[in-house]
Amino acid sequence: MKLAIEGGNPVRKSLLPYGQQWIDGADISAVITTLESNYITQGPIIAEFEQAVANYVGAKYAVAFCNGTAALHAACFAADITAGDEVITSPITFLASSNSVLYQGGIPVFADIKSDTYNIDPNEIRAKITPHTKAIIAVDFSGQPAEMDEIIRIAEDHGLVVIEDAAHSLGADYDGCKVGALANMTMFSFHPVKHITSGEGGIITTNSKDYFDKLQLFRSHGMTKDPSKLLQNDGPWYYEMQELGYNYRITDIQAALGLSQMRKLTSFVERRREIVATYQNAFEHVEGIITPFQHYKSNSSWHLYILRFVNGYLKKSRKEVFEALKAENIGVNVHYIPVYNQPYYQKLGYQIGQCTQAEKYYEEAITLPLFPKMADQDIQDVISAVLKVYQAYK
Ligand SMILES: *Cc1c(COP(=O)(O)O)cnc(C)c1O
Repeated sequence: MKLAIEGGNPVRKSLLPYGQQWIDGADISAVITTLESNYITQGPIIAEFEQAVANYVGAKYAVAFCNGTAALHAACFAADITAGDEVITSPITFLASSNSVLYQGGIPVFADIKSDTYNIDPNEIRAKITPHTKAIIAVDFSGQPAEMDEIIRIAEDHGLVVIEDAAHSLGADYDGCKVGALANMTMFSFHPVKHITSGEGGIITTNSKDYFDKLQLFRSHGMTKDPSKLLQNDGPWYYEMQELGYNYRITDIQAALGLSQMRKLTSFVERRREIVATYQNAFEHVEGIITPFQHYKSNSSWHLYILRFVNGYLKKSRKEVFEALKAENIGVNVHYIPVYNQPYYQKLGYQIGQCTQAEKYYEEAITLPLFPKMADQDIQDVISAVLKVYQAYK
């Protein structure tokens, strides 16, 4: 069949995005109920939403933020990252994982990924530890938890804080435990392409009361009215600013949407796993394509489904495969450009070539559409398009 990029008919008439929210009537009613209530921000729904997420992941505390990036920034504050502190993280992640370190004046240090899981390699973390290392930000890439037992062991050996960037892995399990109570602090994002959405939103879950208090302080200008924490008390109106915090609060409107979405999380994750099983069947045995590998301890919640087109196997480059798939109306994407390749990081002096696995991975990866609302026909369209392009370029 003639490829759409060469003038043939595309597999689909309209573009299938790589990710998308699924909002239903119950979500809309929940938001309207909040809009009609006395509180549209800082009301009772935020705490309900936090409780629902904490219960789901099995953590004692949760603090919601206006987005996941703000939540990561708060986690770096709570971990006491300050000027000159080094924080080890993965280069194959969204910018926010390491930017949150920069916000605090810290120094992101990139440790290479493993060639199979694309998650940070614990041996590479060990090799990057210095006397200035303060924390590790592990990223659960694509929904597959990082090797948390090994990472926690390293952290214990060196007195480091572990922050898990679990923006991709709400609903995933590691070694039989839900992601969210493994690290010192775990961040989830509620951006519309993630597992559940609140429009914009993020949360930190933790078992530590100390982190919990710091996160709450940071979210609201570093300000407290809690009588037990005040240094003095002029009267019932009195508040104190004890740290330099931000306005990183989420609204009740967003929390209402998030809370309603939490009720569907289990079915969303199930559907993602079902779609991935269909993809795996279709692509597992195709020569020159590498399908996602699963570590035996992890049960991914599948934020992303990524194929690697082995360099040099097809007659065309990854870029040309990408463009051909786009022309078939498949909303492919690439996750991610190694963070240190970015001009801003280059200006800071980060060297290209420092993480060879990450760079090799970046040259070969293509993300296929994956979201729970995909119809069976959408899944078949993706498979047909990939095989069509593959056959034409073989
Ligand atoms: C989405 C995402 C974030 C940031 O979340 P926002 O809610 O968009 O600020 C951080 N890290 C990773 C890996 C993400 O995918």
